[in-house]
Amino acid sequence: MSRGIKGHLYIVSGPSGAGKSTICRMVRKMLGINLATSATTRAPREGEMNGRDYYFLTKDEFLAKEKNGEFLEYATVHGNYYGTLKSEVESRILSGEDVILEIDVQGGLQVKAKYPDAHLIFFKTPTMEDLENRLRGRKTDSEETIQLRLKNSIKELEYEKEYEITIINNTVEESCAALRRIIEEKYN
Ligand code: 5GP
Repeated sequence: MSRGIKGHLYIVSGPSGAGKSTICRMVRKMLGINLATSATTRAPREGEMNGRDYYFLTKDEFLAKEKNGEFLEYATVHGNYYGTLKSEVESRILSGEDVILEIDVQGGLQVKAKYPDAHLIFFKTPTMEDLENRLRGRKTDSEETIQLRLKNSIKELEYEKEYEITIINNTVEESCAALRRIIEEKYN
């Protein structure tokens, strides 16, 4: 995706467990669009790779980068730091490439303040029960983590009104098609 002028930024946010990462990765594969790799202080889950899924940093490493002005945005989410490195975004946008950021609502609004043309896309499950089933179904998180993520999702859902468009994740196919349509048709 390159058009010789500044690229588009697509910010995808919503409660954890709603399926954002899966859909964003599928759309990246389908369209060849950039998906920024975030930095985090959370521990890697089984199967996650440093540099592919996240840049896994210690708290000290994260804070050193923050002090050095390397983050476009960062936030504390579910008790860990998460942040988007400028190096994942700025040069790509300037050279006309589009970039998807899959980040939480606090980060989404920080980026929107810096890039007012960024497109805010909210992503959620049809019901809270679906969210809980999904969080439990992926079998990656402890009960404590699941409870924290469910509790935080109530706050995250309040931010939906700040977002321009909502995708309700009924099926992977439908959600993928919806995100793809937004990127291919609505804003191009
Ligand atoms: P997880 O731990 O499940 O991978 O991600 C937890 C939450 O952190 C998700 O809602 C995800 O969107 C958010 N997140 C991931 N990367 C970033 C980032 O770079 N910045 C911010 N603000 N949130 C992020």
